[in-house]
Amino acid sequence: MDLIQLYTDQCRMCGLCINVCPSYDTIGVIPALCAYISEGGDAEERKALEYDIRLCYTCNICTVTCPEGLGIRKLISASREKRTKISGLSEEQTLADPFSDNNIYKKIGEWEKPVEFKNEGRKSEVVYFPGCAASCMNKVVGKSTVRVLNAAGIDYTVMSGIEYCCGSVSAGAGNTVPLEKLGQRNIDEINARGSKVLITTCPGCYRAFKMLYPQKFENLNFEVLQTSEYFARLLEEGKLNFKKDMIEYTKLNDNVLPLGATLRVDLSLRERSKTKNKLRIFYQDPCHLTRALGVHKDPRKVLSALPNTELVNPTPDGSICCGFGGGVRINFPTRSIDQASCVHELAKSLDSDIIITNCGGCMKNIIEGSYMMKKESESANENESLPVYDLAEFISIACGSEPTERDDLKLIYLSNKSLCECLTHYDYKPFEELAAEYDPDLKKN
Ligand code: SF4
Ligand code: SF4
Repeated sequence: MDLIQLYTDQCRMCGLCINVCPSYDTIGVIPALCAYISEGGDAEERKALEYDIRLCYTCNICTVTCPEGLGIRKLISASREKRTKISGLSEEQTLADPFSDNNIYKKIGEWEKPVEFKNEGRKSEVVYFPGCAASCMNKVVGKSTVRVLNAAGIDYTVMSGIEYCCGSVSAGAGNTVPLEKLGQRNIDEINARGSKVLITTCPGCYRAFKMLYPQKFENLNFEVLQTSEYFARLLEEGKLNFKKDMIEYTKLNDNVLPLGATLRVDLSLRERSKTKNKLRIFYQDPCHLTRALGVHKDPRKVLSALPNTELVNPTPDGSICCGFGGGVRINFPTRSIDQASCVHELAKSLDSDIIITNCGGCMKNIIEGSYMMKKESESANENESLPVYDLAEFISIACGSEPTERDDLKLIYLSNKSLCECLTHYDYKPFEELAAEYDPDLKKN
């Protein structure tokens, strides 16, 4: 059925979607979007709408809340596609395009060597696809994932995130060319390696292989699993052996904070954990995994199996967006970071000790939110934030691996620097202050 007809027939204008949406606050957005999609509205209204549609985080909270399964996001996606058709590709849409010189991962690769994985290129039944983000930006995610595979004794191959891009993030931004060009090549490479199980880290890569490729390409002769699903399988097969008690780890070591987590100054967790029997874990549901693809039980299964820990949020009910997605981090950095700070507030309201993420975007935004909270606070104890670990990072430590080195300040610095260089309009004052401290020679294009 035509999208507009669907909303005309089924939307009750009940406003439940608006009540839960972190971006829009008036039900009038629904008829306005319908009018935009079906060519209605005058030039002024269209201009205002084209600004408004950039505010959506694509978190899908509206869709899962809507009694008809509609929500606002479907209209946003159609509107964004329409805007691309009318105006062509924007500068923002080239950021994740692997064929564009304006690709942020290429930029970061010029300053910092991407991760080189030992098992690249070989044949194996299990193939790990780290993607661009875990190879160039959130390196701790890619490095920790292979540490878990090594600890579990898995024979695997890696498809380098430099050579192989899934094309999904670019497609999500309205530029489907990379996905069309790269999809069959990725599938053929996996088949040529004889792989029967593909593991992805990034929710975007997972969406590409799980949902988008089967609609467009052939010969997906392999199973597609997100790392948390694969870890849950390893757990069931008895291959994940937790050698380290994570509450003891936080009590006995100075590693309450992830190694190299230079942004956090609060050490009160170590003091608190001395008197606790269980480490209280808050799992941050990545919107694009939990709500879009239904992956939320397996990461919880794995975390719940860790000795002396408890999950403060055993279901995704009440989960919120980290603020990174939908292009909001690029277009509205302050709004995006404020939303990330809400994750800290939620986790703290549940008396959590740490936050575990399962998406590079969530991880980066929540860490950046923590840094900004700290910068803005008057005293050391005010706006106290929580340590943030990636799921694979935390599990690899629990399995007895050495903690993976990371440098949070550099992560924030490089991601913002790449946006400064790739976007003519990027304007984020807190970063300019950070850059002045970190790299006084930085010049904006
Ligand atoms: S989209 Fe769904 S939740 Fe929103 S107003 Fe319509 S029926 Fe209600
Ligand atoms: S996807 Fe999220 S931000 Fe976008 S309209 Fe729905 S609830 Fe609002």
